Amino acid sequence: MATPIKQVPAPKKGKKGGKKPAGLLPKGGPGFTGNLVSTILIFLLLMSVYTFFAENNKAKQEIALSQVANDVKSGLVSEIEVAGNDLTLVYADGSNKTAMKDPDAALPETLAAYGATPDQISKVSIKIASESGFRFWFVTLLPIILPIIFLGVLFFFLIRQVRGAGMQAFTFGQSKARMIDPADTNNRVTFADVAGAKEAKEELVEVVDFLKNPKKFLDIGARIPKGILLMGAPGTGKTLLARAVAGEAGVPFFSISGSEFVEMFVGVGASRVRDLFQLAKRAAPSIIFVDEIDAVGRARGSGVGGGNDEREQTLNQILVEMDGFDPTEKVIVMAATNRPDVLDPALLRPGRFDRRVTIDLPDRKDRLEILTVHARKKPFGPDVSMEVIAERTPGFSGAELYSLMNEAAILAAREDRKEITQYDLIRSIEKVMLGPERKSHLLSKKEKRLTAYHEGGHALVSSILEFADPVHKISIISRGRAGGYTLKLPFEDRKMQSRKEFLDDIASTMGGYAAEELIFGDVTTGPSNDLMVATGLARDMVSRWGMSDAIGPVAYGAERAYSGEPLSQDVSGKIDSEVRRILEDAKMRAHQVLIDNRKALDAIADKLIEIETVEREDFEKLLIANGITPKKKEEEEVSA
Ligand code: ADP
Ligand code: MG
Ligand code: ZN
Repeated sequence: MATPIKQVPAPKKGKKGGKKPAGLLPKGGPGFTGNLVSTILIFLLLMSVYTFFAENNKAKQEIALSQVANDVKSGLVSEIEVAGNDLTLVYADGSNKTAMKDPDAALPETLAAYGATPDQISKVSIKIASESGFRFWFVTLLPIILPIIFLGVLFFFLIRQVRGAGMQAFTFGQSKARMIDPADTNNRVTFADVAGAKEAKEELVEVVDFLKNPKKFLDIGARIPKGILLMGAPGTGKTLLARAVAGEAGVPFFSISGSEFVEMFVGVGASRVRDLFQLAKRAAPSIIFVDEIDAVGRARGSGVGGGNDEREQTLNQILVEMDGFDPTEKVIVMAATNRPDVLDPALLRPGRFDRRVTIDLPDRKDRLEILTVHARKKPFGPDVSMEVIAERTPGFSGAELYSLMNEAAILAAREDRKEITQYDLIRSIEKVMLGPERKSHLLSKKEKRLTAYHEGGHALVSSILEFADPVHKISIISRGRAGGYTLKLPFEDRKMQSRKEFLDDIASTMGGYAAEELIFGDVTTGPSNDLMVATGLARDMVSRWGMSDAIGPVAYGAERAYSGEPLSQDVSGKIDSEVRRILEDAKMRAHQVLIDNRKALDAIADKLIEIETVEREDFEKLLIANGITPKKKEEEEVSA
């Protein structure tokens, strides 16, 4: 059965499978009672073997030495076999008897001592069997060895039992690293699985080369980077890329997440690091991957996490291990973070993570490639255009594109269709962006009106201000945490945003607040998230991007992250008042736009109350009806 949602296995956060590294103990065993029974059985078996031999021994008649001498003297004995101190006598009539000889003297002497003449003795043929016959040793030593074996076996099972039950107690010092074996082709990830990220891949090809053929590099005296730091927003494929390096190079890949270091008792983090590096060195050439290294690698003494000793020790151990590499070591340490700004500068020093690779959010072309990668194995309808989806998803990370594809497949499957349609994909864009629709969340009439004006406010301000993004969709159906939403999408991907764009962006974010104030003469808790977003933007403009005249071109934000020093009261006071000024200004501008276009605002709100969701085309018709020219893409302008 070809189910359309055959999910492409997602190597999520490196959590996936991978074998346990060598050195971890086997888990459990048969139950404890099972062990005991088998132990006893083995014991009984050995006992019976022993008694069999012993009994066998006793079966023959044992006689005294004097009797032996007498029988020799009377000429009854034809043969004596000597094995150690055991004598086996063969009589002329064919019967057998055994005896013990004096351990300190030879047999003829003993017989002579008992009065047998040399003549009588010479009539008996004396055979000396090898001194240490198997039976001799077996019989003599078994009673000593058997209990030892028994105790050993018992002890072995007991130890296993304890280990099985309390793995943690024995292994908490060992690295919890997961290893991906190069021979394990099911879990293998290669560069082909990583779409886009071209620059990052180019950088990493060199690493792959080295791991494949370290000798070539070492012979010519090249110093290979020990540490490579992958930096990029969440979901941009850092973990995936690290795994691809291992997959391409075909070397063992030891991965551990920074957050896992922190969860244990004091001192364990450091010993785990030691174990991890030891494992990797033994398996060299190999890769160590520390995911989310910011969890342990935050600037020391910054006070975050209350001066966590454990974290510092772990971090120190990582540094010690990396410094301890000799130049010919064939182990490469990779790490990933989405917060390079909080990392301890010590990590970034030469000889440590001195090679840094930035992974950007994918641009339109990359998004198309990523979508294509995740479209493998999925059946699509004829109307599907990945180009359109790529165009409509600026700002999406690889992980979000992956889940978009997956959501679309789920939608199709839920409706019992065999193919994914374009509409499934479009709906999934919004779902991934905003969370699922909450149709069950019914608004009262008053709430509906309020939400309609609020969203209308955002949409209108966004449409009027020159540098704000155009509106794609407005809705008063609540979604995720939002009561309603206005979807604004830039026409182009942008790497850089200007001050004017930020200011218009903040103003349209304040549009909801301004509308509530204007129409209802009051504000609700509705815009609380808007205020947070706007404030964050304004603060970054002032303190990081040098976009405020009053403060000037100074980046206090970055400064603070590196030095760990608090800003002076004077400076932070200035920043606060500048942020406030920007926000007040933005609200005033939004307010003015709404007053100037009150008719349009009412029309949008009425439409929203009526049909709840307004798409771009309908929205633009509303604007035109109210004398506003909708924004056009540059190319559209040309062709129009
Ligand atoms: P990060 O570690 O940067 O947070 P991940 O590597 O965990 O991101 O990515 C999560 C998932 O997103 C991946 O398993 C993959 O399915 C998808 N993904 C991310 N980036 C890409 C990409 N460039 N190409 C293909 N898939 C990607
Ligand atoms: Mg990751
Ligand atoms: Zn809002």
